[in-house]
Amino acid sequence: MSDTVESVIVAIDGPSGTGKSSTSKAVAAKLGLSYLDTGAQYRAITWWMIANGIDVQDPEAVADAAGKPAIVSGTDPAQPTITVDGEDASGPIRTQEVTSKVSAVSAVPEIRARITELQRSIAAAAPQGIVVEGRDIGTTVLPDADLKIFLTASAEARAARRAGETKGADLSATREALVKRDAADSSRKASPLAKADDAVEVDTTDLTLQQVIECVVTLVEEKRTAAR
Ligand code: C5P
Repeated sequence: MSDTVESVIVAIDGPSGTGKSSTSKAVAAKLGLSYLDTGAQYRAITWWMIANGIDVQDPEAVADAAGKPAIVSGTDPAQPTITVDGEDASGPIRTQEVTSKVSAVSAVPEIRARITELQRSIAAAAPQGIVVEGRDIGTTVLPDADLKIFLTASAEARAARRAGETKGADLSATREALVKRDAADSSRKASPLAKADDAVEVDTTDLTLQQVIECVVTLVEEKRTAAR
């Protein structure tokens, strides 16, 4: 048996607050894989639209501008980066304004086509493989991924986690905003948030982050062993 470890592509999807980012980063770091936060890319293009005075509620205006900004993602799980036209966007993409507008921008098919192409080229270039987190990775972006995970959790647990990350956040307002964004992401026509038929669903409501990470690492290792 060879010691060479095959490259592996892992897709992790699910709604907001299920622990996708923390899990994906930790799994990638542990297994020596690259990491891609696709939500950060949609946030980055949304930030650029806002900064350039594009009306994000006007799908035609958003579509016309879809090809303009240069979005570059750094895929080291220890230090993921995102730049827009060469400028560090990691802080500005996390503002309340971007969070409330990103679903409208990400529902525009021209935006999805552009970002999906970018995601596929990043995954194809990852030397050891990659963990890609998002909403439509297993269904649309990388339908041939070696392993697909769909993380879920109750709305209460997700809101509590998100509110915990944001100082002074109001729990019921956080829950409301999160449920609204998930409803928009799940009901859009172009590649909505959905579980792929062959994805493994993991309900994280009563699990610690460490337990979720261990669960996913075990699933990846099982896949690798089976592929040998
Ligand atoms: O994961 P995060 O909360 O940063 O994602 C922000 C938004 O980006 C989501 O609410 C969704 O509108 C969009 N998104 C998407 N497809 C993905 C990842 C994120 O539409 N694969």
